[in-house]
Amino acid sequence: MQALERDGWQCVRCGARRRLEVDHILPVRDRPDISYALANLQVLCARCHARKTRLEVGHKPLPPDRARWRELLRDMQHNPNESEDAKCWTP
Ligand SMILES: [Zn+2]
Repeated sequence: MQALERDGWQCVRCGARRRLEVDHILPVRDRPDISYALANLQVLCARCHARKTRLEVGHKPLPPDRARWRELLRDMQHNPNESEDAKCWTP
């Protein structure tokens, strides 16, 4: 909560205000001693967080078209009732 307040409730990388998560700047597995230090926390949106985590575990970033497709699928799973199509079919 302190990290969210400090960073203004938005992703520090892209400014998004939805799907926010608090990231450990230095991964917990490397620096468990400072895992709860406010200075080691930053607010990221789910998208930026996933990208950072992929890099940390040694994967290359996905090509942009594949990344967009994966996000689309993830959004549909998160918000099954928010899509316009779903509303159209609701009696
Ligand atoms: Zn972001």
